[in-house]
Amino acid sequence: RTFTSDEIRDTFLEFFVEKNHTRIDSASVIPVNDPSLLFVNAGMAPLKRYFLGEVLPPAPDLCNVQPCVRTNDITDVGDRHHLTFFEMLGSWSIDNYFKERAVELAFELLTERFGFPADKLYVTVYQGDPALGLPPDDVSAAAWERVGIARDHIVYLGEDNFWSTGDTGPCGPCTEVFYDTGAEHGEEYRPGGEFDTTSRYIEIWNAGVFMEFDKRPDGRFERLRFPSVDTGSGLERMAMVLQGHGSAYETDLFAPIVRAVREGLGGASASERDVRIISDHIRSSTFMLSEGVVPSNDGRGYIPRRLLRKAIAVATRSGFQDIDVPELADVAIDRLKGAYPQLGRNRDRTLELLGREQRDFGRVVRRGLDQLSGLATGPGFRISGEEAFNLYATQGMPVDLIRDFAAEQGGSVDEARFTELFSAHRELSRGSAGKSDAGAPKGAVRTLAPAFTAAVGSATTEFLGYERL
Ligand code: ATP
Ligand code: MG
Ligand code: MG
Ligand code: MG
Repeated sequence: RTFTSDEIRDTFLEFFVEKNHTRIDSASVIPVNDPSLLFVNAGMAPLKRYFLGEVLPPAPDLCNVQPCVRTNDITDVGDRHHLTFFEMLGSWSIDNYFKERAVELAFELLTERFGFPADKLYVTVYQGDPALGLPPDDVSAAAWERVGIARDHIVYLGEDNFWSTGDTGPCGPCTEVFYDTGAEHGEEYRPGGEFDTTSRYIEIWNAGVFMEFDKRPDGRFERLRFPSVDTGSGLERMAMVLQGHGSAYETDLFAPIVRAVREGLGGASASERDVRIISDHIRSSTFMLSEGVVPSNDGRGYIPRRLLRKAIAVATRSGFQDIDVPELADVAIDRLKGAYPQLGRNRDRTLELLGREQRDFGRVVRRGLDQLSGLATGPGFRISGEEAFNLYATQGMPVDLIRDFAAEQGGSVDEARFTELFSAHRELSRGSAGKSDAGAPKGAVRTLAPAFTAAVGSATTEFLGYERL
């Protein structure tokens, strides 16, 4: 059977509640009291104080659905399964059960409730690192085998399966579940060979981050005072595989938005990838604005601004200059407001902000693209650092757009020179902080401390968006 996305949310939560987990509310995507994060990027982020033992959780075992924003995945958007905004289905055990139970629960939910055949699933576990004194996670591997995952579907991997927060603090191995999307997406995994996590095998669930160590400043790993389990699964990815689609964009969570974007683009020759980028970026920024974010030239507000500019530029480049952002956002709001009522409540304000962003950027984008076209002088053309920087500083053209454009036309950008000019500009604008001009980012780059909350796996949020992507 297939599951609607509402049914997936309900099935996940009902299952964990049945297994004695307490359902807790989700938090805003805007972190509370956490200057280290621009946006909540994992279900555990708002809960980190439970794992550190700073605050007592309402119950040892918890579950919820948490909206997440991952700015570090921006360049991946356009593939089948990376979004800048997604809903994370999460479950936790704080100082209660550990690896075996987590694996049993994951397998039961996946096979008995969601109906996955076990042979379509692969799991990864941590291979250990003798140099660091870290053992392989044979406990998780054995647990998977016991519940019914074939041995040749259990893959030992390195760093990707060790979760940590940076240099010190809580950390531990994790075990993840991948879905086999079939032979048309790549070679079948054979033990000892490459496990392709980028196309054929899609990660659907980080079924257990097992926080058990505390990394000391001297590099030793001590046992944590108490261990915890943190799991997270992307709703859009679950919907993709459970609804039998090739990408997250065909699921019921995206279909109306994608349809509206395609219709909006009319006869324009937008590629699949462009349609995906526009759909994701509008949906994502719509959600951020509905949570109270205001577009701006730096910090948190720069994220929706940048996503919108990219969406508008991509549409313009595809030949559709009059993309109607508020109209498309309206469709996204209708699609999401059932689960997140604030979208409906804040509709007017959100659409107005979006309209304003579109007016401001729409004016410059055509000029910027025209200017870019003038720079595409023939096969192998190169846009100088000065030209790129000029487009960025005077037109507010996001750097990645310039790069994209060049690449599409068979050219390139002098990135090294651009970065030089950019750094000089940044120094300058640091000196005049506070002055902001509407067209161009001020250049206040934030390098955020690696934080406990910042990551599940490699999801550390560090805002480097101005200089690179
Ligand atoms: P990937 O390796 O595919 O980038 P990840 O390892 O970074 O994913 P985790 O940090 O382990 O992801 O997050 C837990 C789950 O959240 C993933 O298993 C996946 O289902 C989902 N997820 C992560 N990033 C995204 C994204 N950009 N878009 C949609 N879902 C995501
Ligand atoms: Mg991963
Ligand atoms: Mg992961
Ligand atoms: Mg990732």
